[in-house]
Amino acid sequence: MSHPDVLVVGGGIGGLGVAFSLTRQGQTVRLLESAPAFGEVGAGIQLAPNCTRILDDYGLLDEAKSLGVVPDAMVMRDAVDGSELTRLDLRHLEERYGCPYLVIHRSDLHGLLLRACERAGVELINDATVTSYENTDGGARVTLASGETYEAGLVIAADGLHSAARKLLVDDRPVSSAYVAYRGTVPAEQPRVRSVDLSEVVVYVGPRCHFVHYGLRGGEMLNQVAVFESPKALAGQDDWGTPDELDAAFAGTCDFVRDGLPFMWRDKWWRMFDRDPVMTWVHGRIALLGDSAHPPLQYIAQGAIMAIEDGWVLGEHVARNRAEDGTVDWTAALAAYEAVRPEHCRRVLTTSRKWGELWHLDGLAREQRNALLRARDTYDYSFTDWLYGPTALTPDQEPEMFTPIPLDSADVGEPVPARGTA
Ligand SMILES: Cc1cc2nc3c(=O)[nH]c(=O)nc-3n(C[C@H](O)[C@H](O)[C@H](O)COP(=O)(O)OP(=O)(O)OC[C@H]3O[C@@H](n4cnc5c(N)ncnc54)[C@H](O)[C@@H]3O)c2cc1C
Repeated sequence: MSHPDVLVVGGGIGGLGVAFSLTRQGQTVRLLESAPAFGEVGAGIQLAPNCTRILDDYGLLDEAKSLGVVPDAMVMRDAVDGSELTRLDLRHLEERYGCPYLVIHRSDLHGLLLRACERAGVELINDATVTSYENTDGGARVTLASGETYEAGLVIAADGLHSAARKLLVDDRPVSSAYVAYRGTVPAEQPRVRSVDLSEVVVYVGPRCHFVHYGLRGGEMLNQVAVFESPKALAGQDDWGTPDELDAAFAGTCDFVRDGLPFMWRDKWWRMFDRDPVMTWVHGRIALLGDSAHPPLQYIAQGAIMAIEDGWVLGEHVARNRAEDGTVDWTAALAAYEAVRPEHCRRVLTTSRKWGELWHLDGLAREQRNALLRARDTYDYSFTDWLYGPTALTPDQEPEMFTPIPLDSADVGEPVPARGTA
C-alpha cells in the first residue's frame, strides 16, 4: 500500500475536519478510527460564527443550516427564580460577524463532515486503534493494536481527551472539574416543547448547576443539557454523577428547570474534564489537534469549534508552504500552526473555566453577577469580539482579550463587604 501524504488518527469532528481541509489543499489523507463505525454520541452542539465562517469557506454551510437551526436569541436566566439576566440578539450578531450562530445535532454535523471527506476522497479506515507513534526520516509512523504500521509525511493525532500521542509532548492527566453533564432530547409533541420558544438558546445559571435548552432539527425536538457539581466527586468517591445526584443538585431551581429533568437520559452521563493548556503541539512530524491538544470545559461551547479551526488553519498554512510541484514544507506549515493555535486555545480553556465559575456562583456573588449581567447592553460585543471574529492565521491577527468586570463593582443595593471581612 503506498503512503499517503497525511495520516489522521481519530474520526471525531476534529479528525474529519482536518482530513477534509488537507484534502482540499491537494493532500492525500488516510484516516484511522478505532471504533468499528463512524458516529457521534450526544445531542446538540452550538456553532458560533468563528465556526460557521469556516463551514462557509468549505462550501458546507448551506447543508449545515438545512440540518440545524439558526436561533434568534441566546438568553441567560437565573436558575433559581427563572428571571432573565441578559441576552444576545443572534440576528444582529450574524450581521456583526458576517456568519450565523447555528445549533445542530452532533450526529448531523459529524455526518456532514464524513460525507464531505468521502466526496473529497479521504481514505477512511475503521477498527484501527493506534497504540504508538514515532518519527521517521521523511515523516512519521504509527503502529496499530493489530501490529500493522502506517507511514506518512505528517501524522495528525486527533484522538481526543485521552490522546496517546499527547504523551510524546507532555506528562499530564485530564483535570476533573467534579461537574457532570446529563443530556437529553424532548420530542416536539410533548407539551414542554410547545411551552418554549424554540428560536432561543437558553441557559439557566444556578448555584453549582446550570441547565441549557434549544431547538434542534427544524424544531422537531428540544435539546436539553443539565450540568451540576457532584458531591460524591468532591468526596473522592468513584461512582460520581449518578441520577440521584442530578435530582438533588437541581432541587432548589425553578419549576421550569426541574420539570425538564425527567427528560434527561438517565443511563448515561458525561463527567467533565479538561486539561491545563500546553503550548507545544508538534513533535517532529506528529501534531496534536482538537481535544488531544486542548480539551476544554464546555461553558463557552468552543471545543468542537477549536478543533474545526485547527484543521482550517493548518490547511491554510499548507497552501502557503506548498511548492509548485505540490510538495509541502511541513516544518514551516507546522511551525506556523503552532505559532498561532496554542495561544488562542489557551485563552479559550482558561476563559471557559472562569465562565463556568461565574455561572455557578451562590449567595452575594450570585447577586453581584446578576446585577452586572442585567446592566449589560444587549448589543455590547466586548465579550465576544475576541472569539467570534475571523480565525487568526498568525499571532498578530489574534484579537485583544476582553477586560473582565470585577464582581464587587456591581451595585446590589447595599454596601458590599471587602474580601476577607465578611
Ligand atoms: C456536554 C458537552 C457539551 C459540549 N458542547 C459543545 C458545543 O456546544 N460546541 C462545541 O464546539 N463543543 C462542545 N463540546 C466539546 C466538543 O464535543 C469536543 O471538544 C469535540 O467533540 C472534540 O472533538 P475531537 O475530534 O477533537 O475529539 P473526539 O470527539 O474525542 O474524537 C476522537 C476520536 O478519536 C478516536 N480515537 C481515540 N483514540 C484512538 C486511537 N488510539 N486510535 C484511533 N482512534 C482513536 C475516538 O474513537 C474518536 O472518534 C461539548 C462537550 C461536552 C462534553
